[in-house]
Amino acid sequence: MPAILFDIGGTYIRSAVSKNCCNATQSSLLYYEKKAIRNFLDGIPDNLVWRELFLHIERYVASVSDEVGLAAPIVVSFAGPIDAAETIVSASSILGRAIEFPDVRAILAEETRRSVFLLNDMSAATWYISSVSSFCRFMVITVSSGIGCKLFDRQSFHGVADRETYAGEIGHIVVDHDPGALICDCGGTGHLQAIASGRGIERMASRHAMRDLTGFGASLCSVKFGASEKRITNEEHLVPAAVEGDAWALNVIRECTVYLARVLATITIASGLEKIIVTGGLAQSLGQVYLDILLGAMRDNDFVLFPFNLNLLQMCPPGDEISLVGAAIYANRRLGVE
Ligand SMILES: [Zn+2]
Repeated sequence: MPAILFDIGGTYIRSAVSKNCCNATQSSLLYYEKKAIRNFLDGIPDNLVWRELFLHIERYVASVSDEVGLAAPIVVSFAGPIDAAETIVSASSILGRAIEFPDVRAILAEETRRSVFLLNDMSAATWYISSVSSFCRFMVITVSSGIGCKLFDRQSFHGVADRETYAGEIGHIVVDHDPGALICDCGGTGHLQAIASGRGIERMASRHAMRDLTGFGASLCSVKFGASEKRITNEEHLVPAAVEGDAWALNVIRECTVYLARVLATITIASGLEKIIVTGGLAQSLGQVYLDILLGAMRDNDFVLFPFNLNLLQMCPPGDEISLVGAAIYANRRLGVE
């Protein structure tokens, strides 16, 4: 049966139709769309963010309705933890410190007269990786505007380990107890996501640039790519400078990534992971440079009897549609949608 799929992230909403859910792949998606959304960083109220999202979803569903038929369900992959009742618990990359959320499932079901299901976007990405790999026990981690992860165990009936609402929400662990540590989108101080995410690395770079104008002024970020101490972005400055081997940019990224490496080292040992698949805009744009920094920092925490395998980390295959395909696979494995 077809399904109508949405992936709501911190910056974009992606939409597609899967012809069926039992063999969903990137190439089986139809009517793919990607649209920028407005979020709390644009200074607009939460209800307007939601109104724009609902309008977009309702329009898209109406546009594909004849094609998919009335029985096709809607499956939404969402960038925030989802509880057992499929309600949103938090959405810091979209709505910052908000603690109240509309009942997305009930509202969309009422508006579209369809069955509606919600799952966390990292769960969706992990379902996708499980369909294109044969690893028995692995973790998927995203390093983008936020940080999150999910574990997969092929021997477990559940596959993706997401029974607990907090599963994979490692971005909000306090890793820096200094009162002057960077502030997280959720409002907390010194959270892993505040420091090691794409947004965290940009903030740390600005902080370093203002404290050491001479060092920053000599970096490729400034000399070649035109960054100023008040405006340094990953896309325009830090990533291209780091890929060219700029020591200043690499040091900022390494300093932020050490915190993530410590957390991942502990999870790897505790869970007996075979593989960590790394995804997310910041990590994927840096590619091997990022994997080398992360693995190097993890190996500073390993134990001589059990050193981390040099192939422990792997970059996720590129593709904007990963969580959409994963949502279709989830619908098949967990909900029985064929
Ligand atoms: Zn936080």
